Amino acid sequence: MQLYDPVYDTIRPEGIAYCANTSDVARSLTFAREHGLPLTARSGGHSYAGYSTTTGLVIDLSLMSQVTAKGDTAVVGAGARLIDIYSALPPQGVSIPGGSCPSVGISGLALGGGIGVVGRLHGLTSDNIIGLTVVTADGRVVAANAATNSDLFWACRGGGGGNFGVVTAFQFSAFPVGQVSLFGLRWPWSAAAEVLPAWLEWSSASPDPMWSNCLLQTAPGALAPVLSVGGAWVGNVADAKAQVAALIGTLGPPTSQAYGQHDYEEAMYIEAGCRGLTQAACHLAGKSSGGTLARTITLAKSDILNAPLGDAGVQAVLAGIQDRQGQGGMGAVAYDSWGGAINRVPANATAFVHRKALASAQYDATFPAGTPPSTLRAAETWLDSWYATLRPFVSGEAYQNYIDPSLANWQQAYYGANLDRLEQVKAKWDPDDVFHFAQSIPLP
Ligand SMILES: Cc1cc2nc3c(=O)[nH]c(=O)nc-3n(C[C@H](O)[C@H](O)[C@H](O)COP(=O)(O)OP(=O)(O)OC[C@H]3O[C@@H](n4cnc5c(N)ncnc54)[C@H](O)[C@@H]3O)c2cc1C
Repeated sequence: MQLYDPVYDTIRPEGIAYCANTSDVARSLTFAREHGLPLTARSGGHSYAGYSTTTGLVIDLSLMSQVTAKGDTAVVGAGARLIDIYSALPPQGVSIPGGSCPSVGISGLALGGGIGVVGRLHGLTSDNIIGLTVVTADGRVVAANAATNSDLFWACRGGGGGNFGVVTAFQFSAFPVGQVSLFGLRWPWSAAAEVLPAWLEWSSASPDPMWSNCLLQTAPGALAPVLSVGGAWVGNVADAKAQVAALIGTLGPPTSQAYGQHDYEEAMYIEAGCRGLTQAACHLAGKSSGGTLARTITLAKSDILNAPLGDAGVQAVLAGIQDRQGQGGMGAVAYDSWGGAINRVPANATAFVHRKALASAQYDATFPAGTPPSTLRAAETWLDSWYATLRPFVSGEAYQNYIDPSLANWQQAYYGANLDRLEQVKAKWDPDDVFHFAQSIPLP
């Protein structure tokens, strides 16, 4: 099995252990240690930096993808993909908060946070973990929860995948599902300087059931980039429209607007880009029988916005997209609204430190497999230089799940004031630094 991003296909593991249960994971880990092999865990394989592959042993959890619910508790195998969770839980009347991309694995997502369309109402994926089963560096199987191994439990809620042990199962607190109303609005690019700050102000002040994003992206071949606002309101469509009316009221009517009310599972399929597809089809081609989705090369960087961008910041954002539009290449920034339940958790209550954010920003350029290296290098040059121009207008924090191998001060950017405590947990649970990669939590 390969990672989501084809650029990492050149890394050839010595072996891949397809584990069927927790004892397989413990035996694989012990085998790798006894033979001096580097090892890494792999759930959905979506690490932007390719940290779930190695030249040693990959401990693959994809067979451990069972998802069950009992009352308000969901038990999820460490290899489940988000679409498997969104297919299995809502028919039982519940779900857990997660991201949109259907093929992202639960482990990387939950261990590093997990933002998504119900995050302002129900919190991060990591905020909803109530227990984990973990294979530790010495091959033991331990439980981690509020009462048992609470330091490991703290670190596994936002401390990032691949750092403290191999998680084999998660227990989540699940919420009851209801109707979700989705909407999409477009304004002409000429309105971008007004829409972006107005959206940020509106989205961060919205009630918790409202999540939205603002997307600015190039449109190669067209005259101008595209500007859109989309979102999800947990509730009926009349209430969604009433909320959105406040944004439209400050900006004037968009050039197009669309609304729809859906049951929870259908809404998650639409957000995943899988409307009309079966669960089997909503997987990566080649990863499971019937999968139809394509792997993608992604260059990505992130920021966390704790304050408005200001006029100069907005101009710098727009200049980057316009510059890329002029080059005729793909490029985008997606702002996702945070706040609500996410920000009500104290910054030191779990390892996830970013609790003052209005929004996250993800700057990216995506390409199909086989794109020539020269095209990727040109995109990287554009992305790096745009990102540099934005430094004066952002917090300096970055989202650990948008892991960025070229980020210089990543320890502070991902973990801030929680870094020291994470290093202490690392020293206790992985004193030999078995779980090591370029941006793993260091030993103190
Ligand atoms: C297309 C795309 C869309 C995305 N959308 C969202 C989104 O909507 N919301 C969001 O919050 N994030 C999103 N992300 C980011 C995503 O959360 C991270 O990339 C996440 O790390 C992916 O998890 P994974 O299990 O698929 O990745 P993997 O590459 O398998 O794992 C990521 C890291 O966790 C480690 N790891 C994997 N399994 C385990 C385990 N069982 N125990 C311990 N460590 C483990 C790996 O070694 C690696 O270091 C997206 C990423 C992509 C590429």
